[in-house]
Amino acid sequence: MDLTHVNGQTRLLALLGHPAHHSISPKMHTQAARLLGLDYVYLAFDIQPDQIGQAVSSLKLMDARGFNLTMPFKCSVIPYLDHLTKAARLAGAVNTVINDNGILTGDTTDGYGYMKSLRQNNFNPVGKTMTILGAGGAATAIIVQAALDRMKEIRIFKRKNNTFEDTVSFAKKVTEETDCLVTVYDMADKKALSDSIAGSDLLTNATNVGMGSDTNSLVTTDMLRKSLVVSDIIYEPPCTTLLAQAKSVGCSCFNGADMLLYQGSASFKAWTGKDMPVDEIRRSCFTENI
Ligand code: NAP
Repeated sequence: MDLTHVNGQTRLLALLGHPAHHSISPKMHTQAARLLGLDYVYLAFDIQPDQIGQAVSSLKLMDARGFNLTMPFKCSVIPYLDHLTKAARLAGAVNTVINDNGILTGDTTDGYGYMKSLRQNNFNPVGKTMTILGAGGAATAIIVQAALDRMKEIRIFKRKNNTFEDTVSFAKKVTEETDCLVTVYDMADKKALSDSIAGSDLLTNATNVGMGSDTNSLVTTDMLRKSLVVSDIIYEPPCTTLLAQAKSVGCSCFNGADMLLYQGSASFKAWTGKDMPVDEIRRSCFTENI
């Protein structure tokens, strides 16, 4: 490992998570800083859930320029911050903190990353309708940014469990604060799901279903049609069962690798003021296409 660029002025960027050491972010950000000749290193810290306040104070004390949050800290970090951006407030989640001389601002770049990946795949969200599967941290960030980016309608399908009413309140809040109508349906209602997909331009999987060795899909192939754009925010495996179904029907489809890249590039810009060299980073950090 070549660390010759590290010196007494080098500033820290960090990831707080539990777990954290599987993350690709240290490689992405440290390589981007080196390519641009910027004096930063990015390290991942696996901390216990009850240590988040202590970790934030420590990073502030050491004058870290900023940090990312991953599971399970995207919500629990909020009480330790001074300001939130509109997207972070609406989503109720933060994945990026910027430290301006001890003033901490929380933002969420997951939604930005997803919307940028959509545009990168030639999908213009303005006036469009999306069916989204799941209502967790990633889904809410995507929904907020899609609404802010003037999508017309978003239909959320999630399990009718103890967080269902929270999702209904979230949908109401986003509908009130943007020009986008957001509604919530029970994932078990397959007729409603099929009808919703039939009336949508875009289908997005933002659940864990299909991740890693899970070969399940929440939709059946007969719910898909060629003119539908299908995306899965999972990037491992690169081609989930949902994406394989979509490919078999001839849909345009893409996975979560670009979302990951662009959420990172937005954090990088917020900290350094510079554009991440995304093409070089895509080549060196992401290898597989679907
Ligand atoms: P999360 O907050 O835990 O949310 C998970 C969501 O999946 C919840 O809505 C949950 O449903 C739903 N879900 C889980 N198992 C399900 C099942 N068997 N049937 C139906 N719904 C199910 O997790 P997250 O942070 O949003 O992450 C979700 C996925 O996105 C993960 O695969 C993660 O790797 C991926 N991700 C990708 C990126 C990227 O940059 N590409 C960024 C963040 C996350 P309930 O609400 O009903 O419990």
